[in-house]
Amino acid sequence: MFKSTFWRSVAVTLGAVTVAAGISACDGGDGPVEAGIAVKKVENLPADFAAGVDVSTVLSLEESGVVFKDADGNEADLFGVLKDHGITHVRVRVCNDPFDAEGNGYGGGNVSPERATEIGKRATDAGLKVFVDLHYSDFWADPAKQMAPKAWAELADADRATAAGDFTKQTLTQMKDAGVDVAMVQTGNETNNGVAGVTAWDGMAAIFNAGAAATREVFPDALVAVHFTNPEQEGSYERIAKILDNFDVDYDVFASSYYPFWHGTTENLTAVLKNIADTYGKKVMVAETSWVRTLDDADGFPNVIGTAEDATQFPISVQGQADAVRSVVQAVADVGDAGIGVFYWEPAWLPVGPPDAVAGNAKLWEQFGSGWATSSAGSYDPADAGANFGGSAWDNQSLFDTDGTPLESLWVFEYARRGATAPLAVSKIEAPHIAVQVGGTVELPPAVTVNYNDGTSAEVPVSWAEIAVDTSTEGSHEVPGTIADGSQVIATIVVGPINVLLNPGFEDDDLSMWTLESDAATFAVVDDNVPAAIDARVLNFWSEDDFTFSASQIVTGLEPGTYRVRVSIHGEDKDPAGAQIALNAAGSEGQWTAPLQLDGWQAWFEGVIEEAVVGADGTLTVSVDGTAGAEDWGFIDGFVLEPEN
Ligand code: CA
Repeated sequence: MFKSTFWRSVAVTLGAVTVAAGISACDGGDGPVEAGIAVKKVENLPADFAAGVDVSTVLSLEESGVVFKDADGNEADLFGVLKDHGITHVRVRVCNDPFDAEGNGYGGGNVSPERATEIGKRATDAGLKVFVDLHYSDFWADPAKQMAPKAWAELADADRATAAGDFTKQTLTQMKDAGVDVAMVQTGNETNNGVAGVTAWDGMAAIFNAGAAATREVFPDALVAVHFTNPEQEGSYERIAKILDNFDVDYDVFASSYYPFWHGTTENLTAVLKNIADTYGKKVMVAETSWVRTLDDADGFPNVIGTAEDATQFPISVQGQADAVRSVVQAVADVGDAGIGVFYWEPAWLPVGPPDAVAGNAKLWEQFGSGWATSSAGSYDPADAGANFGGSAWDNQSLFDTDGTPLESLWVFEYARRGATAPLAVSKIEAPHIAVQVGGTVELPPAVTVNYNDGTSAEVPVSWAEIAVDTSTEGSHEVPGTIADGSQVIATIVVGPINVLLNPGFEDDDLSMWTLESDAATFAVVDDNVPAAIDARVLNFWSEDDFTFSASQIVTGLEPGTYRVRVSIHGEDKDPAGAQIALNAAGSEGQWTAPLQLDGWQAWFEGVIEEAVVGADGTLTVSVDGTAGAEDWGFIDGFVLEPEN
């Protein structure tokens, strides 16, 4: 709650404009707040709506020397600061045994049951309720990763359910004995594709039910949650909820992750959650969300969201964080009474030192587990942690400044409840992206769309720097521009090849020029959530069985002559038999081929046919054709058919 009266001075960076304001957020009532950021009130938000945060790395951060501060800049206990900013719930993940045989922590907070209990106790002492996130793993659990705890590795599925029940009872009893105010427990984390190494639904359901039974025994008043992600996948939640019902899984709350970068629209989120609430009488919530306030890395370890292209839905700023969280709160509230809360994921995962001290930071990550993974985690998770261990990949999504001072976005739940007004300011300028082909003419727009913090937008004239963009060869160029208030905007111009294929990157909804043939379980054009993607959509292939696939386009009306043909691909050749995938061109003058390699996730490989000849009929068929094995997968994008001089 608000203190009865206080004054704050904040400097909030809003896009290109910095607003410094002395602000009075007085009273302690329910009316709108005069603030440094604008947040439209979410109407009819229930009084008990959970305003939650997950701060599971807190102990490791403190052990690494990180200090949290109150709004006045004085050193303060994190949980008290959260409470003072209107936060009501703290979520804490629990890893069964996040240590190797020598006792070295795996990182990500080294959140063992003991340490989770300590976090829960501190939250309780600060007056916050606790949401326990049981991973049923010794390390991170998510859709790509559901490794069984070491102690369960040799157990059959049914015995893992017994172990999950025992572990849940033991962990929650420890919390109860310590006086932790447990309000909710989730049985597994993002369990779309398995839990504790069990991937069959009957076995998964047995684990969920064992966890639920133990929870109801130890904390009869606590809610039991299941947790899934990818609400944007069409039909997915409907299917999962049906399966849970078929297997009589005991739960009260269907919890979803919702990251705006990846998970579709908030309208869709509301729809898929409301469907579950209405069909099965369950409560629903968002267990994880977040947004970026900056693209700068603060600790020398790259961040998950590192480019403007990764984060287009809201401004990349403190105001943008508030915009994002408010929209998620609205989406859950729009479900109706069944929507019970929203949790921000790791808003306090701050750097343990500046980026230019990365060697020293790495020592702290290793010693205290304050980064996402230590090298020791490689013994448990060699493929990911073993290869990519390091620091915080989330420091640009914190609701605290890097020095530990709370940002105004930490108030977003309270502001969403009451409404907050701020002096009108630019929140985002839409930066133009212009594609031209080699030899083309660049035309910069006379105006750009400017978004303001009150939710309005306007087309504002822009004057572009007089820079000649060289379109004689492929490349990327930036042209700075200025709008009337002095704000800067950058136009990006990408000079691409002359390309006579239609819809070469699958960007247009009309895909009729492409012939897609496959016996694969999945062979379709999908939105591309891959960083450094060529463009927004890709052609995806995958199957659990051996499969063939082909994507082809017949191009007519071509000038006879020689052409260069290109395409890009990335993916994984998991079947030992080896995938055979090739770029092909065929016409009246012959056939040409270039093999394509699957070099791994995001390792784009470009296949090129240097000279394909188009004859007098002006026709060429361009295709990618593949024979692949079970579990092979990949993404195809960026076809080019380019005349050669
Ligand atoms: Ca970082």
